[in-house]
Amino acid sequence: MRKIDEIIVHCTATRPEWMSDNSTAAKVKEVTKWHLDRGWSDCGYHYLIDRDGTVAEARPVEKAGAHAKGHNAHSIGISLFGGHGGDQDDKFAENFTPEQDRALRRLIAQLRMEYPAIKTIRGHNEVSAKMCPCFQVQKWLNSAETEKRPERAKIAQSKTIQASSVAKVASAATPLVGVVGGLPWQNLAIMGVLAVVAMVALGVIDLERLNKWNKGDR
Ligand SMILES: [Zn+2]
Repeated sequence: MRKIDEIIVHCTATRPEWMSDNSTAAKVKEVTKWHLDRGWSDCGYHYLIDRDGTVAEARPVEKAGAHAKGHNAHSIGISLFGGHGGDQDDKFAENFTPEQDRALRRLIAQLRMEYPAIKTIRGHNEVSAKMCPCFQVQKWLNSAETEKRPERAKIAQSKTIQASSVAKVASAATPLVGVVGGLPWQNLAIMGVLAVVAMVALGVIDLERLNKWNKGDR
């Protein structure tokens, strides 16, 4: 097995709607045809990622690819469908889909586990004077955390809404204390309601803390 210590990200420079009525396999076949026409032995890339996030294997990883001059021997080449007319400083989302974003992150994570010697993940534009893959891979990689945060905040927020609506129901029940206070079984019921209110209050405090933590107040 060859030594693999790098992943290089590319794009196919095709339009977003390119071959959109065709399967991922058909698209990969077409790209492979371009590369065979150049006299290469196989598709230059090892993986291609379709607009819907489908990951296709092309050239076997054991074999060196043909995608980045001077880096082929020890790297894995991944290409995203899209990027036509894009610029090297574009944001990922300007040329590619959220499904491709998730699929590329997942594939990189899988490959890093499989090949622990991988030290660098770069865009073609970092090793050659190219626009490809039409975004800055380092910036995109570093943005992973900020993209995860809104999701976590959303979950905490929905829990807070649920907890506060329970609190409203419970507080609407508390005026009953004065009316039915005299009967023992009702006292038990009221104590139960109060216990729920107390638990909700504690829960809300915790959720608020979680929310603050989510917003970066750690
Ligand atoms: Zn490229």
